[in-house]
Amino acid sequence: MRNVSRRDFLKCAAAGAAAGMMPRGLMGAAAGAKGARPNIVYIMSDDHASHAISAYGSKINKTPNIDRLATEGMKLDNCFCTNSICGPSRAVMLTGKYSHKNGFYNNGNRFDGAQPTVAKMLQAAGYQTAMVGKWHLGTDPTGFDYWNILPGQGAYHNPSMIDMGKKVKHTGYVTDIITDISMDWLKKRDKTKPFFLAYHHKAPHRNWQPDAKHAKMYEDQDIPLPETFWDDYSNRSQAATDAEMRMSHLRSFDLKKPIPAGLSKKEETVWRYQQYIKDYLRVIASVDDNIGRFLKFLDDEGLTENTIVIYTSDQGFYLGDHNWFDKRFMYEHSLRMPFLVRYPGHIKPGSVSDDICVNIDFAPTFLDYANQPAVKDMDGASMRGVLEGKAPDDWRTSMYYHYYEYPAVHAVKRHFGVRNKRYKLIHFYYDIDAWELFDLEKDPNEMKSVYGDPAYAKVQAEMLTELERLQAQYGDSLEKARERIKPRKPRRPAKKAAKPAPAAKP
Ligand code: CA
Repeated sequence: MRNVSRRDFLKCAAAGAAAGMMPRGLMGAAAGAKGARPNIVYIMSDDHASHAISAYGSKINKTPNIDRLATEGMKLDNCFCTNSICGPSRAVMLTGKYSHKNGFYNNGNRFDGAQPTVAKMLQAAGYQTAMVGKWHLGTDPTGFDYWNILPGQGAYHNPSMIDMGKKVKHTGYVTDIITDISMDWLKKRDKTKPFFLAYHHKAPHRNWQPDAKHAKMYEDQDIPLPETFWDDYSNRSQAATDAEMRMSHLRSFDLKKPIPAGLSKKEETVWRYQQYIKDYLRVIASVDDNIGRFLKFLDDEGLTENTIVIYTSDQGFYLGDHNWFDKRFMYEHSLRMPFLVRYPGHIKPGSVSDDICVNIDFAPTFLDYANQPAVKDMDGASMRGVLEGKAPDDWRTSMYYHYYEYPAVHAVKRHFGVRNKRYKLIHFYYDIDAWELFDLEKDPNEMKSVYGDPAYAKVQAEMLTELERLQAQYGDSLEKARERIKPRKPRRPAKKAAKPAPAAKP
């Protein structure tokens, strides 16, 4: 896939060359002129699944303020992450590169901040850059003129934050505080320059502690169970059965109340779901309120017209789907990312795209809108054409995924795979050798793998070829993955191995 047309490339190259020759102060002044390069506000929450956003058809909550971005901009219906877990997803978005190229595979790794990032590139291009809220990359941010981050996961109530290296204790609720700091920075910024603000919420990450305002929300109602709540994991590999993120794996710090006496096993499972999902949705209600407050602030400050505003999450999440919480799998609910974007006059209000976009594309997109040339060694491509309703003819028709964090909490096996608009092929490896193939049109909830089914032999072969093509394109393979990440000592004795899967190649 090409990143930009030749004409666009020449235009960008000329702009880049001109920028290189121009003293930074002058460049900033030019960029600040009305109608010049847009500001970019990149709002990201943590673990907010699309199916808990009403613009995406949520059956369990309403998010009127987040929905405003869909009404006034575009909704991406097929936006996916490359590695569905917090830190790795953030590293992908900063670098425009897969985990095996940016070096951040698992939570607990430390991000190499010396490598090129979109923040550094925007900064060098004359943007004023800021990072506020959840960071979770183990090292201090680089490429930001201002940063004020939560240490590690951070706390919901009275959080400490690290303000340019200095620890500051705050009083209040984390979602309000991150919003306040973001707005304060916007008020104080140098108004002669365009800005890039990464405004990143901790919520709705585990363990879902609501604020007082939303603590009683949903108290007198039951949240509907998802269709796949009683999944027994039959018709798939052992990986689904072995994952430890069922309702029964929720701990007392998640549930926050003693389990009522006298419940049957089934009743207790439902009770656990209600405890979990209500807190998850309460925490999101505060995110939604704060997005509303932030968007109004942009209106009041006259920033709405020339600012690209994005709302996304670092990955999706299981909301009781397959009886799970958490993420990690390449299955739909955690692979999908919400992505809403508004840019008045450029992105059509109320528009929807089903083009396949991936979080490797975010950095190239920001750079494109900042009139910067495409960066050759980024894996992604600018989504500008998609967002403006004119996707290039050769836009990608499939995406590649690779998850590494195993053995680890939740026991989700290492796996990689490919998804196009209709099918998904997954290979689980490390202490398992299993393949799954899903027909997403006939089986959108992925309840039955058709891998090895003769009726799908042709599809299976085509998907395997596509997987190999993408692995070659991105410089990845099973052998390389094994070399890169040495086996770690299992957390507990390995369970009895699953029945060997069919041969790797059809
Ligand atoms: Ca996350």
